[in-house]
Amino acid sequence: LRGTKVARGIPYGPDSLTRVYAITSGKGGVGKSTVTANLAVALAERGLKVGVIDADVHGFSIPGLFGLAADDGTAPKPTKVGDMMLPPVAYGVKVISIGMFLDVPEGQRAASQAVAWRGPMLHRTIAQFLTDVYFGDLDVLLLDLPPGTGDVAISVGQLLPNAEVVVVTTPQPAAADVAERSGVVARQTGQSVIGVVENMAGLPQPGGGVLELFGSGGGEEVAKRLSESQEHPVELLASIPLSLALREGGDAGRPVVIADPADPAAVAISALAERI
Ligand code: ADP
Repeated sequence: LRGTKVARGIPYGPDSLTRVYAITSGKGGVGKSTVTANLAVALAERGLKVGVIDADVHGFSIPGLFGLAADDGTAPKPTKVGDMMLPPVAYGVKVISIGMFLDVPEGQRAASQAVAWRGPMLHRTIAQFLTDVYFGDLDVLLLDLPPGTGDVAISVGQLLPNAEVVVVTTPQPAAADVAERSGVVARQTGQSVIGVVENMAGLPQPGGGVLELFGSGGGEEVAKRLSESQEHPVELLASIPLSLALREGGDAGRPVVIADPADPAAVAISALAERI
C-alpha cells in the first residue's frame, strides 16, 4: 500500500444506497470488534450484501474473528485483479484488514509486526481501502474503528461524512464517560451518532439471578448524554450479555450468531441486525 496515490474518488457519498456504519468505542476491550463481526454475519444471514473494513489498524482482530487468520496470525492477502483488490469472503461477508498486508518474516507471528504509522499514512490506507477494494454493490458497510478519538476516527469522518456512528460501551459508569467522548468526536467531524450498543451486560446465573460483572446502566447513560448533543435522539440499540459462547466463537473464528444462534448474546446481536 505504501506510497501509492489514491486516484479514484471515495465512494459512499450522499447518493449512495449503501448504509455505512462506523463502529467505535471509548476504549479497547469492550467487544467492539466482536460486535462488528457478529453484526456483519447476522446482516449477511438476512440476505444483505455486507462488507467490513477493519480500520482498527493497531489492534486488528477482524481476520481472526472471521476465521481468516492462520495459526501464526497471518491473514490471506486479497487477490489482485487489475488495480483492484478482491477482499476475502467469510460467512458471506467481504472483509478487508490491514492485517492482510503485513509482510511477516518466515517463522514470526503477525502479532510481532507493529503498525507504527502516523496519521497521514493511516488516512491514505483507509482511503485506499475505500477506493481500491472491490466490494461491488453493498447494502451495508461496517467499519471497525480503533478505540478512542484518534487520527483514524477523524479520517473516517472526513472520508465518509455520511457514515453513521454506533458507539459500543460496557455497562460501567466509568466506561460511559470515555464512550461519550468518542461520540462527541464523531459529532465534531459532522457525523451522526445513531445509537449505542451496550456489551458485556449481565450474565444470567444457573441458579437464577444475573451477575452484573461490569455493572449496569452504562449504555442507557451514554445514549442519554449523546442525545443531548445530537439533533436527534441517540438510542440504546442493544444490550448484549456476557457470553461464554460468544467469546469462544470469537477465539475459534466462528461467530456465535452462526455457531450458537440460540445463545442470548447471539439473539441480542440478531435483534440489533433487524434494527439498524
Ligand atoms: P475491542 O474490539 O473492543 O477491543 P474485542 O471484540 O476484541 O474488543 O473483545 C475483547 C475480548 O472480550 C475478546 O476476547 C472477546 O471474545 C471478549 N468479549 C467481547 N464481548 C463479550 C461478551 N459479550 N461476553 C464475553 N466475552 C466477550
